[in-house]
Amino acid sequence: MSLYEGKKGLVFGIANDRSIAWAITQECAAQGAEMGFTHLPDSDERRKNEKKVRKLVDPLGAKLVMPCDVTKDEDIDAVFAAAKEQMGNIDFVLHSVAFAPPADLTGPVYNVSRDGFKLAMEISAYSLISLAGRAREILNPGGSLLCLTYLGGEKVIPGYNLMGLCKSALESATEYLAAELGADGFRVNALSAGPLRTISSAGVGEFNKMLKLYETFSPLKRNISAEEVGKSGMFLMSDLASGITGETLHVDAGYHVMGAPPLDAQGD
Ligand code: NAD
Repeated sequence: MSLYEGKKGLVFGIANDRSIAWAITQECAAQGAEMGFTHLPDSDERRKNEKKVRKLVDPLGAKLVMPCDVTKDEDIDAVFAAAKEQMGNIDFVLHSVAFAPPADLTGPVYNVSRDGFKLAMEISAYSLISLAGRAREILNPGGSLLCLTYLGGEKVIPGYNLMGLCKSALESATEYLAAELGADGFRVNALSAGPLRTISSAGVGEFNKMLKLYETFSPLKRNISAEEVGKSGMFLMSDLASGITGETLHVDAGYHVMGAPPLDAQGD
């Protein structure tokens, strides 16, 4: 029997075929999951978010494809109402969403603007809370939520800047939500991925250096693949992980355990 046979879920955060949400979606679909998807609203003629997402998810038999800007409660309400109507109760929610205004993300934290901070926190951290509140109304027993984070939320990673603050808040929200929703039998976890080339990571300063660091310093001496993140994300939301909640699972070739560079890279 497939791991996700009879399971249904909502996926927030596919922008294109490089998105981490797409990597996780493919693994869940391969295990029999039925899913609904959201995309950023098409704000003007040039933005073809819906078209790009539909091209990927329609062949999977998407149960629902809807616009959703997570800064808008009415958008989130509409998605969960449509999910309830068209899919019934669901088993998982994938939160793979982040944003910070480029001017605030690329500079030092001491220069972050008040508005940039608010927007980045709202989209990248508060949104998990807003999805969790709605999800608990329609999750089946044993249901789970998963969000995507990065080591820059635990330790200072030069170049990650404002997004590091957002990921700290997201990981803390994961733990508090896990504690609160555990009484209902729901799980909430975070997957801390190593660097992958996506639209979001293109906005992070010195990304090429980050990739090189993982090749040099991680225990596995390489970068991770989108497929590896996809499989681990699929695992965390599945019943195989039924005893895991409030966890941040690192899928980063082991980079997070290193406290200093390997001796041969330290010089004399
Ligand atoms: P991505 O750009 O493909 O995905 C980010 C998604 O956020 C996009 O689908 C975008 O439409 C969505 N989004 C942005 N603002 C939104 C809003 N207001 N409302 C709704 N959706 C909005 O990039 P990705 O790398 O797949 O990012 C997915 C998640 O993974 C993010 O949380 C990111 O921080 C995290 N992550 C990425 C990496 C990496 O190296 N790529 C590493 C660790 C964690």
